[in-house]
Amino acid sequence: MPLPEDLESCRLCSERFVTTHTAHRPKPVVWFRPGAPILVASQAPGLRAHTSGKPFDDPSGVRLRDWMGVGEETFWNKDHVAIVPMGFCFPGYDLKGSDLPPPRLCAATWRDAALAHVGQPQVRLLIGGYAQDWHLGKGRVTDRVRDWRALAPRVFCLPHPSWRNTGWIKRHPWFETDVLPTLRTAIQDALTR
Ligand code: SF4
Repeated sequence: MPLPEDLESCRLCSERFVTTHTAHRPKPVVWFRPGAPILVASQAPGLRAHTSGKPFDDPSGVRLRDWMGVGEETFWNKDHVAIVPMGFCFPGYDLKGSDLPPPRLCAATWRDAALAHVGQPQVRLLIGGYAQDWHLGKGRVTDRVRDWRALAPRVFCLPHPSWRNTGWIKRHPWFETDVLPTLRTAIQDALTR
């Protein structure tokens, strides 16, 4: 199994990325170390994270930190939060400007090793359909988020915090009133243990 140390130099998707609308090169955003009590299992870095090298360095990150009830200092502290996406590189945009999916090859190559490297986090956030399908098998994001009591407080399925899901959040007010307070309590418990 490849070691996470090799991950930063991975260029397996060079040919794939050069054919995207953004025609960029691979640049893995590696943001985890052993022992973090919180795992953010996410989708893939956005363009801003690709540029800065920091995951969730964008409005999605602002929203995610609000959901978690933590500030930047805690969120970007690798001793607190391990961020392990389904694709470690920005996958690029399609012609309509939408994010392309994370390359399947990435999770197949790196995910087991990266998760083993992190260890046994106390709380796992599964963000979006790609991460949820990988960890739990096929299912619908809305059903999983609605069914949050089945896995809380160790696992929380969340929609992607992108502005594209603002309508979803408005249509499902129980997410903010019921799920988020429990999530924030679980995060605080994990951080203070
Ligand atoms: S997305 Fe994953 S597999 Fe592809 S180049 Fe980046 S690190 Fe490597």
